[in-house]
Amino acid sequence: METGITLERALELIRLHTAPLPPVELAGNWLQDHVLAQDVIAPMDQPPFDRSPLDGYALRAEDSLGASPDHPVLLEVRETLCAGDWPQIPLNPGQCARIMTGAPIPPGADCVIRQEDTDRAHPRVGIFRALAPHENYCFAGEDFQNGSLLFPAGTRMDSVALGVLASAGLWETPLSAHPRPKVLLAGTGDELAQPGDTLRPGQIYNSNLPQLAARCRQLGLEAATAWWPDDPRAVAEALSESAGLFDCVITTGGVSVGDKDIFHQALPLADAQRLFWRVQLKPGTPLMFSLIQGKPVLSLSGNPFAAAATFELLGRSLLSALEGQPHWQPVRLSAPLATPFPKASGGRRFVRGVLRDGSISLPDGHSSGQLRSQVGCNCLVDIPAGSPALEAGTMVKAVLL
Ligand code: AMP
Ligand code: MG
Repeated sequence: METGITLERALELIRLHTAPLPPVELAGNWLQDHVLAQDVIAPMDQPPFDRSPLDGYALRAEDSLGASPDHPVLLEVRETLCAGDWPQIPLNPGQCARIMTGAPIPPGADCVIRQEDTDRAHPRVGIFRALAPHENYCFAGEDFQNGSLLFPAGTRMDSVALGVLASAGLWETPLSAHPRPKVLLAGTGDELAQPGDTLRPGQIYNSNLPQLAARCRQLGLEAATAWWPDDPRAVAEALSESAGLFDCVITTGGVSVGDKDIFHQALPLADAQRLFWRVQLKPGTPLMFSLIQGKPVLSLSGNPFAAAATFELLGRSLLSALEGQPHWQPVRLSAPLATPFPKASGGRRFVRGVLRDGSISLPDGHSSGQLRSQVGCNCLVDIPAGSPALEAGTMVKAVLL
């Protein structure tokens, strides 16, 4: 087991030991947010035909030479083409076709003039300006060409990708994609009352499980939740059983050095292969990563902000690796602080912040037990080890949530 490692090394170990889930065949809506396990080749040109990008007249550019509002060129209007029509008549010199956005450009025409640049008269229309060949002209295959690579394996099928898929006529075609992982979120802590319970003295409500489950739902994952007592044997048994039922287990609590930090005992009892403990970052330093029956188990510190931040920094990479995107990274950016950060940082520290209009404000309340101040935050500021207190205006790096 490695210990006291950098975040980057921890992510490398997670990637090294987390295989993508075996692909399944999915189509259409079922592909949403899934990562493709195959390349997808376009079976057609999109658009399938040359088409007009605007409402006007399709014509031969050479016919418009010298046209101006004072000296319009007169062209015979042969037919009207709306989107969905198919042109029947090739245009001869001196002819044009009335055409709407999305309609196929008729043979013989090589440009489209917008109707505002004509007198819109019928059956002979006056053209007010000269056009170059292929002006206002959309070529077949302008979006993608038959036989081209539409999506490489590893593409996550977001809403736009689904639109592209539909536009290629592949909506009903089964494609090989990695399933979304079945995730168990488990909390430990004898002090935890469940939502709805009345608090006994010394108790607090369990907030990590509802919060992380909601975060998983935002990411499109319906995670199961469980609470386990601070009892190494019970936790070991629950871990072994869960490893058989889920693709990964993410726990909170019990990983530090106190008497009730039972994962040090529970993991060996569950025959876990322990890969690391303690990562050089705050909050949530004592997090652990292990494999039980080959299944990844990420054990996060129980402090609510620590659990939330390390879920973002490590949990999401774990989920992405299972989903077939082992090299997924959050969006990183640099921006000036709008508010100071009053503490020096001996070690690397992640601080909640709000990125708005190009600068980052930090809320009051930075301790890892404080959760409310994270409401509305959309980034984690990455403060390097050895930083002094930071003044407003300091450029910082941040991870977008
Ligand atoms: P632990 O990581 O078990 O040492 O817990 C660290 C702190 O986080 C303690 O104050 C716990 O009471 C608190 N904590 C642990 N688990 C949860 C949870 N699920 N919800 C809210 N607070 C928790
Ligand atoms: Mg605890």
